[in-house]
Amino acid sequence: MQPLQKLFQDWVKKVFSDSHASIVGIIIASIFVGGGSVYLFAKGLWDLFIQIMHSPTPLWITTSVCIVFVIVYNKKASRINSRKTHQIDIFLMEDNGLKWKVTDFKNGAFDIEQRPYCISHDTRYFNTPGGQYMCSENIGGASCKSPIIEREELPSLYEFAKIKAEKQIYNYQTKR
Ligand SMILES: [Zn+2]
Repeated sequence: MQPLQKLFQDWVKKVFSDSHASIVGIIIASIFVGGGSVYLFAKGLWDLFIQIMHSPTPLWITTSVCIVFVIVYNKKASRINSRKTHQIDIFLMEDNGLKWKVTDFKNGAFDIEQRPYCISHDTRYFNTPGGQYMCSENIGGASCKSPIIEREELPSLYEFAKIKAEKQIYNYQTKR
């Protein structure tokens, strides 16, 4: 049992033991958990609560505590799930003598930056006023051996990179 859940159990038992005021305690506890009471009302559990309230004390305390635990557990689980969907993987991938920045969103979607990166320097290509794309090291006077790309070449190079990334990320299997 989680320490938080244990804490709630002890607290609910101690403060609201043997009294129909416990229903208030459960609602307050739910609010503390974070909007839990709203969840209960939305799910139409209010009638169930009334029933529990009129049943013998030990049963309804137990049931109420259980319901609070379910809320706590669901809250925690949904937080973990939402954290998972935000885990993304960003990496550089080689293709056609260039590198491409790929973002794998880990939810079936990915994205590639349209501008390539230098294969030697891992820096994003520079767009010259003349419409060419080249390693930015060239601009500083140094020479880089990575290829210079003409504007018209870029769309097809980008398409090739997309195809490669798709294969790497999804790695689809053939069904027979
Ligand atoms: Zn370079």
